[in-house]
Amino acid sequence: MNYCKHCMIPTKETACPLCGEEHLWPVLPEDPCFAAELEGPWSDMYADLLERRQIPCLRKQVWGMDWTAILGNRLAKMSFYVPYERLSDAQELAQALFARNGTETEE
Ligand SMILES: [Zn+2]
Repeated sequence: MNYCKHCMIPTKETACPLCGEEHLWPVLPEDPCFAAELEGPWSDMYADLLERRQIPCLRKQVWGMDWTAILGNRLAKMSFYVPYERLSDAQELAQALFARNGTETEE
């Protein structure tokens, strides 16, 4: 598996499917990889889930600080990055969260 340091994603391709970078590195277990992008309260819930699973994460705001100042933190969109070795766990959690988000019925 290769890794694009610009986009922070693992890829099987020899060039990055997002930015086209051809100088890819073999992915390392600790390389931060894009896991999910969530808004407002969902990003807090997701951070909480990751913490409970003891998955270290990097959070990056999708919008710049200016937007946060205008719209407030509630509407901020966050990108989550986790180490490659925990990526599938993190993606599973994100999918579970999205599934809950999409349905009104709760068990
Ligand atoms: Zn890239």
